[in-house]
Amino acid sequence: MKVLVCMSVVPDTTTKIQFNSDKTELQKDGVQFIINPYDELAITKGLEIAEANNGTVTVIHVGPAENDPSIRKALSMGVNEAIRVNSIAYDAQFVAHEIAQHATEYDLILTGRESIDFNGGAVCGLLAAELGIPSVNVVTEIQYADGNCTMTRDIDGGRETVSCPTPCVASAQKDLCEPRIPNMRGIMAARTKPLNVVAASGAAEYSNISSFESPAPKSGVKMIDADNAEELINILKNDLKVI
Ligand SMILES: Cc1cc2nc3c(=O)[nH]c(=O)nc-3n(C[C@H](O)[C@H](O)[C@H](O)COP(=O)(O)OP(=O)(O)OC[C@H]3O[C@@H](n4cnc5c(N)ncnc54)[C@H](O)[C@@H]3O)c2cc1C
Repeated sequence: MKVLVCMSVVPDTTTKIQFNSDKTELQKDGVQFIINPYDELAITKGLEIAEANNGTVTVIHVGPAENDPSIRKALSMGVNEAIRVNSIAYDAQFVAHEIAQHATEYDLILTGRESIDFNGGAVCGLLAAELGIPSVNVVTEIQYADGNCTMTRDIDGGRETVSCPTPCVASAQKDLCEPRIPNMRGIMAARTKPLNVVAASGAAEYSNISSFESPAPKSGVKMIDADNAEELINILKNDLKVI
């Protein structure tokens, strides 16, 4: 049983996001990068499934060497080995194409439901399409048995159970599991686990970011006297026009 987990590296959620002067790139100075939180869930679930089936987990990341500490963190969680495609991750299609070059030997491929920086939610489906295998998005449970995955998805007002043969791709949603926290033994072991750096396949980037724009700053809070319902109604009706 071989599991591949796709891992993106994203700015820490407390980061104050700033762009360069022509607003085409994130200013990375002083920014703390972390494993995408949904990918921590995918890694943990991958480990649970592999451990129950005498299998292995490989992590793959498309990105530069500065992201190696995050890859080592994944290794310290218990992942057996890692692959880093040494390239800037231009866009979701580029990422999916590069991962596909290394993903043909795996039974189960896991991604996060989305990266919390670019929020595309695209890599899972694009990767499955490249490989010509099934994909199931936003799963909250995965059971593997006899070459088959049974997965649960939360849908509007209910829950859906989907079953498909492996190999397949699935994306992790919150509630899939509790992310595993590395212990000291794992941290020590991670130092010597294989991190194989491979060149990108040479595919062109598929899209270009023209510019980023920050959201407008939030306006201040207006306090209204609890007894002054008339003023509240006036603001909701005439200023905000929500009633
Ligand atoms: C100039 C530039 C530099 C960038 N540098 C990096 C970088 O160094 N590292 C980085 O992670 N992203 C980087 N990105 C972001 C990267 O382009 C996006 O992660 C990529 O476009 C995927 O699209 P998405 O975020 O919409 O992915 P989504 O489809 O929202 O991601 C879903 C899942 O796909 C997988 N995935 C996404 N990105 C990667 C990846 N790079 N490698 C492996 N699996 C992935 C993860 O499992 C993730 O949970 C960079 C983007 C730009 C424009």
